[in-house]
Amino acid sequence: MLKKVVKILFNTILLVVFSGAAFWFVQGEALKKEYNDFRKCSVPVLLYHAVGEPVEIEWPPSLIMPASLFETHLRYLNQEGYKVVSVEDLVKLLQTGASLENVVAIIFDDGYKNNHSDALPLLKKYNAKASFYIVNRDIGKTVYMDKAMLLDLLDSGMELGSHTINHAPLALIDPKYLPWETGSAKKFLEKILDGYQLKGIAYPNGGYNDKVLGAVKHYGFTYGLTGKVGVNTHQTFAEAPYEMYRISIVDDGNGVHGLRNRMERAYLWGFLQTKGIDLNIIRDWLI
Ligand SMILES: [Zn+2]
Repeated sequence: MLKKVVKILFNTILLVVFSGAAFWFVQGEALKKEYNDFRKCSVPVLLYHAVGEPVEIEWPPSLIMPASLFETHLRYLNQEGYKVVSVEDLVKLLQTGASLENVVAIIFDDGYKNNHSDALPLLKKYNAKASFYIVNRDIGKTVYMDKAMLLDLLDSGMELGSHTINHAPLALIDPKYLPWETGSAKKFLEKILDGYQLKGIAYPNGGYNDKVLGAVKHYGFTYGLTGKVGVNTHQTFAEAPYEMYRISIVDDGNGVHGLRNRMERAYLWGFLQTKGIDLNIIRDWLI
């Protein structure tokens, strides 16, 4: 009798374990497929700052990407079949509903001179486009690009955008300065660039609020880049064109794996956002 009970119990346990395993296997496969499908219609925006030799001690070392590592990144994206575009080109794809498969955008904040001397030749070599967000007050200063360099970027098919007049953290400043830091920044930079029309703004330090969103829309920007980690899809852009996602790419000592991990994080966080989970709430502790 006891032997029979033990046998039934054992079989029940086996059934439960196997059913559970089968359930997780099926669910896991379905989830994996859903994730892979999601990746095909979402675009990470990779944020760089300076590229080249760490000659300026005031720069945090992590913001300086050695040119050789930047080239390794471009080669990796090339090998993986990615098309590297500017955000302006990405926005066209997002607005027209075109395919986003294997698309990635590269951006540079702050307008460092070595974006022109070191990054531009590599971008050209790998047939890549990028967007550069410029701080008006810094144009022509020692480590920043001057007018001729900015015009050369445009001649090379790159995009220029605004990063405000004073690198102002827009969500923290007195709102009365928002017209100056967004609208005037756009107007002045367009004048310097002989009438080139700016479409985008990258919020300094990534911060923004409703007043900031109202100002950038009012002054004619087409899109805005936040500091939030995630990816850009037709849906996220249609819902919030002034709250685009990006991920910071730094030299974290892991070579090309650092890029791969960060891109994976952007895709994963974007996917979780579609499930109602936004890890940006605790981003500062996680990154
Ligand atoms: Zn910046």
